[in-house]
Amino acid sequence: MRIQEQVFFWGAVIAGVTASAMLVQGSDSTTNASFVEMARELSIQVGDDGQCLENRQSLTPLEAELRSPEVADKLAPQWGCVMLAQNLDRERGVSGHVFPSKVFELAKAKISQNQGALKVTGGVKYMGLKSEPFRYDVELDSKAPQAGSVNSVNSLSSATLGTQRLLISVRINFAGIHADQKIEMQTKLDQASKYWSDNSPNHSLRFSFKAVEPNEDAHFYVGFGLGEKRTQYYKMWWSDWHWSLMAHEIGHMLGLDDEYNQMRVTFRSRNANPVYSHQCQFSSIMCTYAWNAKPQKYHYYLILNRVINPMANADGDDET
Ligand SMILES: [Zn+2]
Repeated sequence: MRIQEQVFFWGAVIAGVTASAMLVQGSDSTTNASFVEMARELSIQVGDDGQCLENRQSLTPLEAELRSPEVADKLAPQWGCVMLAQNLDRERGVSGHVFPSKVFELAKAKISQNQGALKVTGGVKYMGLKSEPFRYDVELDSKAPQAGSVNSVNSLSSATLGTQRLLISVRINFAGIHADQKIEMQTKLDQASKYWSDNSPNHSLRFSFKAVEPNEDAHFYVGFGLGEKRTQYYKMWWSDWHWSLMAHEIGHMLGLDDEYNQMRVTFRSRNANPVYSHQCQFSSIMCTYAWNAKPQKYHYYLILNRVINPMANADGDDET
């Protein structure tokens, strides 16, 4: 069923609706989706009143008791509702949200009109308060997909655009890093890139996270330290960070908020069950960076929607 869900997500690709046809349709195709409509297309469960059926408090005991991949799939539609609502609340300033089934082709259409990569920037209100920056580039991917990596349904589209992936890039400069350390960091960044690409709907997105020199148009300039500490993603990175933690931190650079309960995690007692302090879906990369935590469908949707609906105040400093 998983493949069918993914196909449905990028529904416009299957229907053979090309990007140019969507532009001809004009404003109809960019009509904003309501929360209920968004949720429905993202395989998220939501009540008819537009409210989530569960909340952090009610889902946490289920998450704690039933931690297995099978059960994680069952809880995902409920967690997805809570976390999509949180993300929407914290990216206030985004002018609207298109239907998830149209986001991929609409993003392609907009990028096709752009000369080169389209720069996406803004800020997410960390813990609902302080605005923290996201910056990334989105462009048509010039690298052809490898055989078998793209779902066959996707390749049915006769339009050239219909079979082409989008490339999403984040370039990071590490201050004072040595050449050999840079190579080690890049090896882990490559694993994180592959992880984000491999989990994207229909393998339709390719991610490229690069360690770059200061003159290579970096999105982020961060400090670099030996060892391992937890520091804010846009200030300092560490040599011993696991690639899955990097995949989480890059999620912030892509404009996604932490999904764990920051207050409870900060003040939790050491030996308590971490599920009860985190209060989030442990199979989501923005909840934890455990080995089986993955980017979720709504994550990819939020990243692409900002291509179509940029932030009103796109300098990442929208204190209001
Ligand atoms: Zn985080």
